[in-house]
Amino acid sequence: MRTRRLFLKEAAAVSAALATGGTAFASPSTAGDAPSTAPGYKRIATEEAWAPAELLTTYRKLAAEKSFDDPGFIAMWSRLGSRPELLARLADIGERRIADMDATGIDMQILSLTSPGVQIFDAATANSLATTTNDQVAEAVRKYPSRFTALAAAAPQDPKAAVKEIERAIHKLGMKGVIINSHTRGEFLDDPKFWEIFEAVEALKVPIYLHPQTPPPAMIGPYVERGLEGALWGFEAETGLHGLAILRSGALDRFPGLQLVLGHGGEALPFWLFRLDYMNRSARPNLRNGATKLNKKPSEYMKENFYVTTSGMAWAPVITFLQSVMGVDRVLYAMDYPYEFEGSEVTATDNVHMSHTDKKKLFQTNAEKVFGL
Ligand code: MN
Repeated sequence: MRTRRLFLKEAAAVSAALATGGTAFASPSTAGDAPSTAPGYKRIATEEAWAPAELLTTYRKLAAEKSFDDPGFIAMWSRLGSRPELLARLADIGERRIADMDATGIDMQILSLTSPGVQIFDAATANSLATTTNDQVAEAVRKYPSRFTALAAAAPQDPKAAVKEIERAIHKLGMKGVIINSHTRGEFLDDPKFWEIFEAVEALKVPIYLHPQTPPPAMIGPYVERGLEGALWGFEAETGLHGLAILRSGALDRFPGLQLVLGHGGEALPFWLFRLDYMNRSARPNLRNGATKLNKKPSEYMKENFYVTTSGMAWAPVITFLQSVMGVDRVLYAMDYPYEFEGSEVTATDNVHMSHTDKKKLFQTNAEKVFGL
């Protein structure tokens, strides 16, 4: 309950802090290389972060007090706390964000509560925060329906409550999927105690975006010692591990319709597919579904149950590779705003060599299909 008290107490302070630093927004670092305005497709960015200012203040406060047993979280939010412009961009889900989207040619953002979302708190606090933040972002979507849509935050700490909130967010608030910021207090969703969430999401026919978080305490040591706990390497190591753990748990045999979205080119998993198939034949299994073997090869689950996005990967060789191994229908555009806010990266992605049809899939129609826009 301690964290919740902080959360409420700090709300006024952060509003004041943001008010002082919030008006002057720098252009993206490469504004001169602006994306074309009429490319012949809508640009829908699928991994775009937000968080209410008071939640950001809570993160910073917890990191500063170091009272939280999560070295990755402490390292990350100590650093981000010194970037007021980034924090202000995260907190804005209105005109300022839309101006940034206009400056970089983004037609629509799919908003998701930034990592670690509600997943660091105790179950009651987390569930209450999921409800509040879902209501807040739904309000922004109602106000700007052609520019924003959103994914539902949920608290896996209490799977039953998470299912209720997900169902409310999809049915009542019109949300288009679920954001899970990877591990929940050190636990991964390959544990069957979380599978009622999979069951509900499969029935709702919406995807789960499995977004990175810093590695949990059991994993963080060698990363944090070297400054690698964040997006440089720790994020992809942690989330690739989480995705692979779910894939090998048998959950996708139990819930064959379940669809997961991985950012950052699939958190390296597509690159490893050949080796994953080969080595999985002799590796110790991680089956949690009561079966004795997986029904399919890892590469088959990747192509049937996962989508990957280009967040942080505005690089032609990777995008071409992803389309070739995952299929052109399974690769979606993302910017990763505001952490990665680069107009030149939109242009670079525009310029990746592929047919116009495939490019429209990448930027627009795959997202419309996966998220039911
Ligand atoms: Mn992200």
